[in-house]
Amino acid sequence: MSCLFCRIIAREIPASIVYEDERIIAFNDINPQASTHVLVVPKRHIATLNDLQEADDALVGELVRRAASIARERGVDAAGYRTLFNTNREAGQTVFHIHLHLIGGRSLGWPPG
Ligand code: 5GP
Ligand code: ZN
Repeated sequence: MSCLFCRIIAREIPASIVYEDERIIAFNDINPQASTHVLVVPKRHIATLNDLQEADDALVGELVRRAASIARERGVDAAGYRTLFNTNREAGQTVFHIHLHLIGGRSLGWPPG
């Protein structure tokens, strides 16, 4: 298994896990860009958003709602937070297993670089 996030899901590589259920895992980013930087990840390997199927709609909804729930737990929901997927080279995707970044805890610039 070569995918980094599949290896985290399989507990072959350690991570600071903040949430897990049958379909989703969430863990702290190893290189956080803010005091809250959590990656919300489907357990099933999907390389990029370009690979999503209609049957994945509920799963994507769960990722987004879980991110909002973690934001609430971290107390950044009212002040605000950012949720984003990077897709492919020009967006800077480096891990090809989709992951929703949840970033909060400071004022975030827009547009991103
Ligand atoms: P991408 O650039 O693909 O959107 O985001 C990949 C994210 O994964 C980056 O923010 C990076 O810091 C994080 N990351 C890379 N390797 C590891 C790791 O081994 N453990 C954790 N927890 N995060 C990682
Ligand atoms: Zn994977």
